[in-house]
Amino acid sequence: MKAAVLHGPRDLRVESVAALAPEPGEAVVRVSAVGLCGTDYRIWSGDRPVRYPLVMGHEVIGEVAAVGPGVTAVAPGQKVAVQPNYSCGACPLCLEGNWNLCLSRTAVGIDVDGGFAEAVRLPAHVCWPAPAELADDQLLLAEPLAVVVRAVLRGEATAGETAAVLGVGTLGLLAVQVLKSRGLRVLAVARSRRRLPLAEAIGADATATTETGPPVRAARELSGREGVDLVIETAGTPEAVEQAVELARPGGRVVLTGLPHEPSSVHFFWVVRRELRMIGSMIYQDEFPEAIRLLASGAVQTGRLLTHRFPLEAIQEAFAAHRSPDAIKVAVMPGPRQGT
Ligand SMILES: [Zn+2]
Ligand SMILES: [Zn+2]
Repeated sequence: MKAAVLHGPRDLRVESVAALAPEPGEAVVRVSAVGLCGTDYRIWSGDRPVRYPLVMGHEVIGEVAAVGPGVTAVAPGQKVAVQPNYSCGACPLCLEGNWNLCLSRTAVGIDVDGGFAEAVRLPAHVCWPAPAELADDQLLLAEPLAVVVRAVLRGEATAGETAAVLGVGTLGLLAVQVLKSRGLRVLAVARSRRRLPLAEAIGADATATTETGPPVRAARELSGREGVDLVIETAGTPEAVEQAVELARPGGRVVLTGLPHEPSSVHFFWVVRRELRMIGSMIYQDEFPEAIRLLASGAVQTGRLLTHRFPLEAIQEAFAAHRSPDAIKVAVMPGPRQGT
């Protein structure tokens, strides 16, 4: 089969590799589409070290091609979204249900070979069944959507409340939709004006930029009080974390789900003074089924988020496209070309 193999920073080659066969408890998934995200980009560019050679790709959807002995939860032919993280299952964190925090967590496409290939081999329990009629373009956003569903859950988003979403990339645009589906009014906040019309088109009640600092006034206008009840930070920049603290009302909640790689100079005076709850949200625990349900019901729409698609052979172009200003979600489609 064909796979895009990373041999070193920026050295990505589409090659023929050995066909995959499932071991006990495993499934081999024929990949129909893989989303590309900032994590893939950091690995590809060498910012994030990995062992080489590596097949990257963790936002994987496809169809089960074969299962190993003992697998009953999925069968060949089943359409699935892959949960690209699994844990040791034996440590105190895993045993108490916090498997996403396990120190021995395995990330597909980072620690082990992933989905930038015609097929991927995985533990069967990370293959979440999806309805056959759910379009690939919808299902492809299941992984980032699961991240967002958890962030919204941890923020205890409640109908009738107001929220601000920082960042209007894939996670932010999904967060706006999940919050709307739960009956909140939402302010979408971006660094520039460019994507504000899109944020509005997918349901944001108000939009603002951080061009002249945190949009405190917009947060007050939307909420009719001192700030919004809930802030979901998806940008993962140090500045966005500081701005999140500014937009929440006293007694409000701030959920951080973007991963800031540099320290932030949050003024913790305001965290105390406003009794803010700062909540970290790391990937997902049991949120995949809810993400798939939101996609299948149409509550979350992905059409305008999926901006670029490339066949596996053109994967280098996909990495270039990821950095273009008009890119939101770039996808690689290793499967046979669909006539749409
Ligand atoms: Zn990702
Ligand atoms: Zn563990």
